[in-house]
Amino acid sequence: MLDLVSNYHTHTYRCHHAKGSDREFVEAAVSAGLKTLGFSDHAPFPYKNGYVSKPRMALSELGDYFASICALRDEFAGKIDIHIGLEAEYYVALWPEFKAIIADYPCEYLLLGHHYYSLDEQSSYLGVAFDDAKLLELYTDQVVAAIESGDFLYVAHPDIANFTGSEKAYSEQARRICRAAKAAGMPLEVNALGMRELRWYPRGLFFEAAAEEGNDLIIGVDAHHPKHFTDEEAETAIKDCRDFADSFGLKLLDSMPL
Ligand SMILES: [Zn+2]
Ligand SMILES: [Zn+2]
Repeated sequence: MLDLVSNYHTHTYRCHHAKGSDREFVEAAVSAGLKTLGFSDHAPFPYKNGYVSKPRMALSELGDYFASICALRDEFAGKIDIHIGLEAEYYVALWPEFKAIIADYPCEYLLLGHHYYSLDEQSSYLGVAFDDAKLLELYTDQVVAAIESGDFLYVAHPDIANFTGSEKAYSEQARRICRAAKAAGMPLEVNALGMRELRWYPRGLFFEAAAEEGNDLIIGVDAHHPKHFTDEEAETAIKDCRDFADSFGLKLLDSMPL
């Protein structure tokens, strides 16, 4: 059992780097004791010139994604509340077209999950260590604009940029994200997958800025495998996320209004 009521950050096999059937994720969340499960697989974008982005579903899979999760939501009603959204970058150039596309589907929410500092065909993954403060600023500009757009439920792994340059520059940019999120009343995620896999995030330096701004936090399992709800490491990761938030004196929300 996880010490967790709700999770809004769950992937499916459609993104090519998650494993397990949609049903297995739901069954795992039920057995972990969750009351609310939100699916938020990596959103497809209407890229130009035939570009195919690997770590996300194709536009042609949206129909199947929503149909499958809706059917599970109805089947598991009374056992667990299932919600359906997407995790998306805020790609301004593609945004109007993206929103028009998802308007045809029962998409309840978007998580802001920025993984690149520009369009993914033009830049590398933010998890690759970098020390160029200009790129960190570019990432931050996009996250702040995304928060201010009002289109997102919360900011997933706000600290994903693996910036190895000066701590002062990092803290300044972190502060901009925290301040924008606070002004928008939007929580920041403590990412349990990063915690579990001892990644470079959750990053204390980011959450020091959050502590100064008084942000609300929320735990995201970021499940890419059903076991991310059920194994011993899952339990430890959630406990570690709670201890992490406590160490900064920050409040963890149990759920989001949907
Ligand atoms: Zn992923
Ligand atoms: Zn994710």
